[in-house]
Order: sequence, then structure tokens, then C-alpha cells
Amino acid sequence: MAKGLSQTLFERALLTIPGGVNSPARSFKAVGAKPIIAARGSGPHLYDVDGHKHIDYLMSWGALILGHNHPSVVNAVTQAVSRGTGFGLTAEPEIILAELIKKAFPSIELVRLVNSGTEAVMSALRLARAYTGRDKILKFEGCYHGHSDSLLTKAGSGISTLAIPDSAGVPAAVTAGTLLAPYNNLQAVRTLAKEYAEQIACIIVEPIAANMGVIPPAKGFLEGLQNIADEIGAVLIFDEVITGFRVAFGGAQEKYGVQADLTTLGKIIGGGLPIGAFGGKRQIMEHLAPVGDVYQAGTLSGNPVVATAGIAVLRHLLDACPYDALEQRTARLERGLRKVFTDAGIPVQINRVGSMFTVFFSDNPVRDYRSAKQSNTERYAEFFSSMLDKGLLFPPSQFEAGFLSTVHTDEDVAATVASCGQTRFAS
Ligand SMILES: *Cc1c(COP(=O)(O)O)cnc(C)c1O
Repeated sequence: MAKGLSQTLFERALLTIPGGVNSPARSFKAVGAKPIIAARGSGPHLYDVDGHKHIDYLMSWGALILGHNHPSVVNAVTQAVSRGTGFGLTAEPEIILAELIKKAFPSIELVRLVNSGTEAVMSALRLARAYTGRDKILKFEGCYHGHSDSLLTKAGSGISTLAIPDSAGVPAAVTAGTLLAPYNNLQAVRTLAKEYAEQIACIIVEPIAANMGVIPPAKGFLEGLQNIADEIGAVLIFDEVITGFRVAFGGAQEKYGVQADLTTLGKIIGGGLPIGAFGGKRQIMEHLAPVGDVYQAGTLSGNPVVATAGIAVLRHLLDACPYDALEQRTARLERGLRKVFTDAGIPVQINRVGSMFTVFFSDNPVRDYRSAKQSNTERYAEFFSSMLDKGLLFPPSQFEAGFLSTVHTDEDVAATVASCGQTRFAS
């Protein structure tokens, strides 16, 4: 077969970019596949440079809840760019975006915008440490919170699939301050909380885990964390970089009725452009410079073009209130795929919350990192490649979440299920 343009471009990228990618998961290494190179997107579709059209269930890792190229985002961004790409001074769009975030999350009284989810979490940790005067953080196995040093331990997806236990280059002294508990295991948290009560600055969690594949919180898990954090005087941080504006306008906090002290956001709030945010109680947030003594800054933070994209997305979500429709459509996809695998006698666990889902090839329910790791990743790789051949882009790893957008249709879902039924999984 002749070499396609994706392959030619990827080989060219390999000459100047480490591994040919600017973020490891894009290499498709976890599924042993050749990466596709994106050319353009349109609604629910992604076109690669070879002209193949894919129904996209990756959606820029969840950032594109309105699909590709949404007219309201494109128009808003175009107008914003014509006024200038950035000023390094405060501009109105960032104020409006902050107001919209505050409106969505009752637990957020003040919010600061940054340039990525990683930066949001890194800053929230510093703030929690300063606020409590403590150093240790408690995180959960398989939860990913960006690539800052202290959180790169049992950090899910990219790292678990590449089988790097911890990243090289992270000083042991840094991760030594990080305590680990299994997701959904309150007893383990209680034990750690007892032992390190006076030392834990914060408990950080993905309120719906999505970086070891999607794992919903067990009943009472988030409330339990809130109680434990209160008891020991630690800051509870919900990392809603994926779930914010995804499972409800007010994120997992609205869906489950549990409030965090600090919340981190990203992905959706930038409409596909680079962004992050962290916010929470005024008494905590006012420790940030220039009010307080916790330094945090960014040349491009609150960029007006990015903020304008975010405003367009959030306003659209407020007007359209698409969450019931997303729920129903994604449930239909879940049911359809489950039937294909069940009919074929293939053990599968489909975890889903609203429009985020993961197809785990496993006999057992997946409720934490250990059970996620028991999945058959070779079968997932086969599933990924045979779906890609049929023009369906699923996450290129067993341990990443799939997403629907508001512009995926029932026909897209039906076509996806039908195509899946034609793969060797149906035989
Ligand atoms: C994606 C993600 C991050 C990191 O965000 P970046 O913008 O990639 O730095 C942090 N936390 C969670 C839960 C994420 O899914």
C-alpha cells in the first residue's frame, strides 16, 4: 500500500519533535497504531490529511463539547482576533468568563485563569499548602492532574499505558510528600488521614475519574472525602478539568451535590484553545498575589481570544442546556456497543457518566486503578484499530475517556454501533 500523507507527515515530525508529538498520547503508541494527522474538523467529524472522515469520539480529549468548528465559537474568536491577539493587561473577556464560571459553581467565589489544566492544579496545590501551612497532598491511584512534579505518581492514562511507573526527572523528595489511596476507597483515606492528620494540606481527586478510563465515584465517596477533609482541616480540591461543564453546567459538584473548597478547570472552558482555571472560597483565594503572598502569574493568562472562545461555549451551554440530550444519546451508544459485544460473547464493562464513557474489555466491574489495569489492552488495541478503519475515532488508549459532543446525532450513534457490529468483534 502506498504511504499515506499521515505517515509521511509523522515521519517528518519525528525529525524535529520528540516522538513526533507534542503530547505523548497522540503517538497512538498505547494501541500500537500509526497516528493520524489531523487536517480539519467539522461538527462531530474529524478529517485526517489523507482525506478520511472520522466520527470523532475523542473531541480534543473532551475539550470540544460543542463539536469542531462551532459557528458561535468561530465567529466570536474571529472578532476577538481582529481586536488584537492579546495585551498582557486585563481585558473584558476574562472578566466575563470568570463571572460565567462563578455562576456555574456555587463553591467558586473567586477564580483565576491560567493556560492549562496542569498549571491550574499546580497553582491550586501551592495555594492549599500556603493556606494550611502544611506540605503533604493526598491523591488517588490512576487520577491524572497534569504533569507537575508532585502529582506524577500513579497518574493514570499516558503514564500507565506507557508503563512508566513514575516519570524520570522527578526528585524523590517531591513525590515523597504525596500520599496515595485507591480510588473509591474511603477506608484507605481514613487510615492516611489518621496517620498524617496534621500534615495533609489537601485531598485532590477527579470527582469522576477519567484518566484511567471513566470510573464514577461510588455512592458516598465524594461526601466522605469532604467530611475527612473537614475533620483534618485539609483543603478539598476537585479536579474538574474534564468534568466541569461536561456532566452538568456546574460539573460533578452540581451532579452529585458535593462542594469542593477549590476547583480546577480546563478543556471545555477554552473552547479548544489552551486554558486552565482554578477557583474557590474567597478566604483561600485571597492568599494569591497581589492580595496575598502566594505567587502565581502568567504572561498570557486570561488571553482575550481564548476567553472569548470560552464565553461562547459557556453561553451556548447555558442557552441550550444540552445535558439531558447528551445523556440519552450517549446511553444509546452504550447500549448499542454493549449488545454487540455481549452477542459476540466478549466480556465488556462500559463505564459511563453522561457524555463521557470507556469501553473496558474486562470480566469484572472497573471501580479503581487496579481493576482498570486488569482490562485486556490488546483487545482494546484491536477494537481501536478496527473502528478507526471504519472511520470511527475512539480514544487511542484503554485508559482514556471517550466523549460525545452536542452535535453528534442519533444517526452517528447508530452508524457507530452498526460499524462496530461489522468488525470481527461481532463474529
Ligand atoms: C487534561 C487534564 C489535566 C491537565 O490539563 P492540561 O491542559 O492537559 O495541562 C488535569 N486534570 C485532569 C483531570 C485532566 O483531565
